[in-house]
Amino acid sequence: MAISFSGSAKEEICRYNPTKNCCALAECFGILLFCNSFRTDGIRIITESREFAGLLPKLFKKAFGVAFDAEPEGDSAGKLIFQITDKDKIHRIMSAYGFDAKDTLSLHINLPVVEDDCCKAAFLKGAFLAGGSVTDPAKGYHIELTTTHSSVARECNSLMYEVLGVEPKAASRAGGYVLYFKQSDMITDCLTYLGAPLAAMGIMEAKLEKELNNKVNRRCNCDDANTSKVVEAAQEQLNAIRVLRERGLFDKLPEKLKQAVMAREANPEASLTELAALMEPPISKPAMNHRLKKLVQMAQEGTL
Ligand SMILES: [Zn+2]
Repeated sequence: MAISFSGSAKEEICRYNPTKNCCALAECFGILLFCNSFRTDGIRIITESREFAGLLPKLFKKAFGVAFDAEPEGDSAGKLIFQITDKDKIHRIMSAYGFDAKDTLSLHINLPVVEDDCCKAAFLKGAFLAGGSVTDPAKGYHIELTTTHSSVARECNSLMYEVLGVEPKAASRAGGYVLYFKQSDMITDCLTYLGAPLAAMGIMEAKLEKELNNKVNRRCNCDDANTSKVVEAAQEQLNAIRVLRERGLFDKLPEKLKQAVMAREANPEASLTELAALMEPPISKPAMNHRLKKLVQMAQEGTL
């Protein structure tokens, strides 16, 4: 199975293991608050990222000295599920963040845990790894974080504003709260901040490519429009010339107009600029335009 854009961004983020204990604790906090279930009766983290799955046990060991009660087999395909069901372990994890295991209705981002800048980044990395995704820029611009806790969504919004300088948009979706960005430059900033500069570059490249394609398309459309105008005008001039010749008026034309007639007849598809250069002596484009308009006008009025 080909790895998704989101998957490769997560892979990139997982290359950097937190070395400080404060950051390991903060990263696990982000994971827990944005994972599938973080409750007194059980913790469940589901991911499709092999790299995140490899990192999880190490992180939990470092932060709490706790192992998962259920881990996926090394070679499992599809979704990977990690669980902790042991009451003592859950209690230890909850109390590491100052939560009472009996009262988890009020889960929120405990500020001391994300006080330092290093820990803010670690927290958001964890949140993205467990509950985030980024769309392939070829399909659209979208990055999001999803949590089941409303107060966490609110607090994470302020945290992202603090570190990125822009507040994400917020929405609620069945069973969850979503924070998201849709502007390509914000997605780039976000990915860079999370430690995925290559994915960020992927967004920038996709954007440049799109802009270039748009420019080329616009130019083509523009050329087409111009070409059809040139063809229409030339057709009108050729009709006028035919009328003038049929009425035997050609010989009575002034020398300048005779030249214009012969040049147009010999070059039915030439532009004004090209015809102007064929005049003897060469004239300007507006002057050429004037001569041809004069011919059309004479044919319509039937006079010289
Ligand atoms: Zn830290």
